[in-house]
Amino acid sequence: MLHYSGAVYRPPSEAHSLIIQVTVGCSHNKCAFCNMYKTKQFAITPEEQVLSDLRWAREQYAHVERFFLADGDALILPTERLLGILRTIRELFPECRRISTYASPKSILKKTPEELAALRAAGLEFAYLGLESGNDALLKKINKGVTAAQQIEAGQKLKSAGFTLSVTAINGLAGSNGDWQAHAKDTAAALNAMRPDFIALLTLRIYTGTPMAEWIERGELVMPTPMELIRESKLFLEHIDCPGAVFRSNHASNYLALAGTLNEDRARLIRQCEDALAGNAPLRKYVELGR
Ligand code: SF4
Repeated sequence: MLHYSGAVYRPPSEAHSLIIQVTVGCSHNKCAFCNMYKTKQFAITPEEQVLSDLRWAREQYAHVERFFLADGDALILPTERLLGILRTIRELFPECRRISTYASPKSILKKTPEELAALRAAGLEFAYLGLESGNDALLKKINKGVTAAQQIEAGQKLKSAGFTLSVTAINGLAGSNGDWQAHAKDTAAALNAMRPDFIALLTLRIYTGTPMAEWIERGELVMPTPMELIRESKLFLEHIDCPGAVFRSNHASNYLALAGTLNEDRARLIRQCEDALAGNAPLRKYVELGR
């Protein structure tokens, strides 16, 4: 059977991927809002375990088109080791069409352009990067561990190596008592510089046991109302300039479902925000995401 250690997360678009846990946890594991890997001690999965998972999966599944390399940061693996895993996937699963992973900015920056190009050539194609915000003060506050310039450089490196890049940002991250305007504008500016293929604008959720939950408790961070979140989305959209990027803000966390292709749908998306702010569009109910 496949070896999974603790809860395993993957992006919604990887619902049909076979998840192979090449690391356990997140090498950073310090973001103030995140509880995904808090109970896990970060470790690189032993190579033999990964290979035995792949061999076992080959015996069980007749057809696997997609793989997702978990947990939080497969790119932290030494390049040769990751190349070996990719080669094994290709050999055992010739029908495989896509291999994806979360990619932390620090790990991307440690790889040379040649290493990233080799990984891309070996079949690693799709990378999910958590920008969260393009605002340096906010990145520091949430303990992201990188600056906006480093995030931009990481995204650009992946794009230059030929990766398909999906970037997430978090609506409401500054709180309604923080500088939400700077967060919206700087996040749009960072994305404009990165030019991702996909942009996901999620909505801030507060998870028990995180530093952010304590900030809320102490009143240091005030959770924005649905209308404040939409006002911030509108400002973000007014500053985004990413021709061809698929924009999604229709995750279960979003009160107003927005989806389109930039920049052609930007005016319509802004109009949707305006309609909602005027009370002319139904808002979705809060959905408990279960963590
Ligand atoms: S948000 Fe990403 S980088 Fe930050 S702790 Fe969570 S998994 Fe790690």
